[in-house]
Amino acid sequence: MITRMSTLFLRTLREDPADAEVPSHQLLVRAGYIRRAAPGIYSWLPLGYRVLRNVERIVREEMDRIGAQEVHFPALLPREPYEATGRWTEYGENLFRLKDRKGGDYLLGPTHEEMFTLLVRDICSSYKSLPLALYQIQTKYRDEARPRAGILRGREFVMKDSYSFDIDDAGLEASYQRHREAYIRIFDRLGLRYVIVAAMSGAMGGSASEEFLADSEVGEDTYVRSPGGYAANVEAVTTPVPEVIPFDDALPARVEDTPDTPTIDTLVAVANERFPRADRPWTAADTLKNLVVMLRLPDGTREPLAIGLPGDREVDMKRLEAQVSPAEIEAFTEDDFKRNPALVKGYIGPGVLGTTKASGIRYVLDPRIVSGTRWITGADQHGRHVFDLTAGRDFDGEGVVEAAEIRAGDPAPDGSGPLSLARGIEMGHIFQLGRKYAEALDLKVLDQNGKLVTVTMGSYGVGVSRAVAAVAENSHDDKGLIWPRELSPADVHLVIAGKWPEVVAAAEELAAQLDTAGVRVLLDDRKASPGVKFADAELLGVPTILVVGRGVAEGTVELKDRRTGVGNEMSVAEAIETLVGLTGWAWAARLGSVSPGRETAR
Ligand code: ATP
Ligand code: MG
Repeated sequence: MITRMSTLFLRTLREDPADAEVPSHQLLVRAGYIRRAAPGIYSWLPLGYRVLRNVERIVREEMDRIGAQEVHFPALLPREPYEATGRWTEYGENLFRLKDRKGGDYLLGPTHEEMFTLLVRDICSSYKSLPLALYQIQTKYRDEARPRAGILRGREFVMKDSYSFDIDDAGLEASYQRHREAYIRIFDRLGLRYVIVAAMSGAMGGSASEEFLADSEVGEDTYVRSPGGYAANVEAVTTPVPEVIPFDDALPARVEDTPDTPTIDTLVAVANERFPRADRPWTAADTLKNLVVMLRLPDGTREPLAIGLPGDREVDMKRLEAQVSPAEIEAFTEDDFKRNPALVKGYIGPGVLGTTKASGIRYVLDPRIVSGTRWITGADQHGRHVFDLTAGRDFDGEGVVEAAEIRAGDPAPDGSGPLSLARGIEMGHIFQLGRKYAEALDLKVLDQNGKLVTVTMGSYGVGVSRAVAAVAENSHDDKGLIWPRELSPADVHLVIAGKWPEVVAAAEELAAQLDTAGVRVLLDDRKASPGVKFADAELLGVPTILVVGRGVAEGTVELKDRRTGVGNEMSVAEAIETLVGLTGWAWAARLGSVSPGRETAR
């Protein structure tokens, strides 16, 4: 196929759009691949739509390869199935809800567990139909609180979602592993640098779950790695629990005057000045900080929650969110303080927390606060703190919460050494759902003994439109995009450098030959200067640029690698041979006979 830039529906921009902060967003808009229609909602232009369909093609091929069967659900869905699983409410404000002319409730699907479960219930009645894996590539709708970075986090986006159905746990494990393998192939072919990390199961309920994160500074997910190979999303990291300390010899708790110490820093300074320790100075880690937040439950009710953690750590809101999901976290406001007079701002202590205590507020503790640990903490009176308040003797929590920030250097849960941190973009999520949806929607089949058993499910997602942005994020330079061969909107960008008729004629001839050989050509046949054309070629990011200029009179052209910028003069015949070879390589990768062999962080 030859795509002529003279007639292509494309306008490239020299300036970054004002609302774009991350490189992929800036470049995809500037290169005319996408265009904003509304916040978090984008249109695909011809070249961008090709890249999107290339991602879809890779995903389809790899899903088909593991025997998953493609179906297609509506995006507009009835309320009832989501009511049955509780998600009509649980999804909260993220769900786009609408009414039809008769007043019936509908939603725009944010994910389709319910619909798949019901479809399989309608059609399958025996173990003989299982194992089964179904998938779709579908537009999803989520009214994200913070749509961001163009198509990286949209309110409308394309997802591949698949679901596996098995009769028993061993079957689910096998289905999960098959998907895992498919995902490795997909993300290898997308040319992403990525890691596979342990994930939180979150609102979905279920057990084993892993995420595929593309390495990226602009990613919203933080993940950790240990020297021993443990890797987890920061939300899923568990803190090694310290040994319990005997407290028979612990000093009794005592309240001291600590005027003007509403912050940890001021408290540590005053403690060292007025109540110095003999062995070492007090530090923030000796203090117990009690933070109160407001949880907004999916049904709209609000409920306070107090978190006790060592004073040298902040609460990581994403970790806390993952722990309390589907509830959302809101700030504890001045009005909330007024409604809870037992809480003395800046001096809150365990004395008033816990359901049986004065405030009635639920109190959960960081895992480090084990029995026998001693703390300086608020005395619930203005300007006063209590010293040697001993866990297990003087106070307890009503549970443990993994909400404290994880720091580089923290001990890894596998005991192999210090954790290191990096950021990534969530590209895929594989997840052993178990029987939650099958139970809620009554998906049962007859087993070998004629007994009805509940089916066990897995759910697996790939961010298809997000992948376009993630690849752009992973693969660009200051001049523009650089597509991996399988994703590129063309195999070669042929620049006609000059308007001499013999050059134009030779270039046209060459484009036709390449087309015949199965090479997809983006032909810059515009009446523009070579400088403009080269700049656009770099911006658009086709991995190979073929320059046809005056040299073609002597039979030579220049073949340039977009990534390295290195150009090679060669004969026309050699150029055709090289391009056919490069294009064939991409085909071979599709058929699975060669591995792209790209470096991944796995
Ligand atoms: P995130 O934590 O980024 O919001 P999620 O946990 O909500 O993702 P899933 O519900 O597991 O994501 O969806 C499957 C995949 O769909 C994700 O791995 C991601 O690649 C993609 N995805 C999710 N939300 C969006 C969005 N708003 N825009 C684009 N892609 C998305
Ligand atoms: Mg999300």
